[in-house]
Amino acid sequence: MIPPGSTIGILGGGQLGRMLAIAAANLGYRTHIYAPGVSGPASEVAARWTRGHYEDAAAVAAFAAQCDVVTYEFENVEVSSLLRLRGIHPTPRALEVAQDRVIEKSFAADQGGRTAPWRAVDTLEGLHQAIAELGAPAILKTRRFGYDGKGQERLNSPERAAAAWAGIKGAPAVLEGFVQFSGEFSIILARGIEGQIERWDAIENVHRDGILRTSRAPAQGISPEHVEQAGRLAVRLAEALDYVGVLACEFFATDDGPVFNEMAPRVHNSGHWTIEGAVTSQFENHIRAICGLPLGSARLAGTSVEMRNLIGAESDDWQRILEDSAAHLHLYGKGAGRPGRKMGHVTRVS
Ligand code: AMP
Repeated sequence: MIPPGSTIGILGGGQLGRMLAIAAANLGYRTHIYAPGVSGPASEVAARWTRGHYEDAAAVAAFAAQCDVVTYEFENVEVSSLLRLRGIHPTPRALEVAQDRVIEKSFAADQGGRTAPWRAVDTLEGLHQAIAELGAPAILKTRRFGYDGKGQERLNSPERAAAAWAGIKGAPAVLEGFVQFSGEFSIILARGIEGQIERWDAIENVHRDGILRTSRAPAQGISPEHVEQAGRLAVRLAEALDYVGVLACEFFATDDGPVFNEMAPRVHNSGHWTIEGAVTSQFENHIRAICGLPLGSARLAGTSVEMRNLIGAESDDWQRILEDSAAHLHLYGKGAGRPGRKMGHVTRVS
């Protein structure tokens, strides 16, 4: 057990790091951030900040040596920098799986999950072949380093192949068959050091341009049986990885059941509502899990909860948002809102 008063190292200094650091402080821990920039949303709330690159294994090791436990809030941390470190949660193996869509889909399928039909694509020729096999529409996604809809090209017809291939700059990719979904939802759970699991209510998510706009819990438009299937898969994934911390899994809801899309081995944007909307937030349970403390209840704190992301200039509206006395406003301290950038979020608990 890592007792309160200890130092938690966090790789990544964005808004997830900020909210983790706040949760850690509430439990009496100090946080030390490691990130490439000079500052970031987490720098205002963490005790220390070390500037460094994620690929610099020696610098990451020196940072870890100053912390009692290390976690990450950023998915593109170089796994090789972490492999020889002790006391890192969740296991770097989870990062390895989540960073590569081929490994991730194969892993989910091995655990009994259903994914969209897919093919690995390494050349334009391979892309033509994959389109011939899967048909159009389809989505071409880079195997690695994709987020918020970046590194993705939609193919409505085979004629777009060359343009899509150029669009992802010929990077190693997967082609995914287009899933006709009725909705998107996520399952977020926390797994403790002794394997205990707390799972939050399923969350219904709406994306626009690949970016999460709103999350609502409980997910009302999705069959409870399909939610249960997805929940059981998420638990199996966590157990297979001997996972410690918060794990988020995203699904498409279809008539035939949940289709696994991807997993994030970290706290997740679709779980921000848990700060006010659940008995224990994803951030607090992540800290509890990695420190070996008992987990808190993931039960809803109301009948339903809605979270809306504030993207770009939407955060300029903060005064109007506060006119609603039931709104919980979170701003990440990022300064001027650039288009497509997540600046904050608003939560309402009913
Ligand atoms: P991802 O980065 O994989 O989460 O994709 C971003 C968003 O694109 C998803 O949340 C979906 O709205 C959409 N999308 C991704 N993959 C597919 C697919 N195979 N079929 C239909 N829509 C998809």
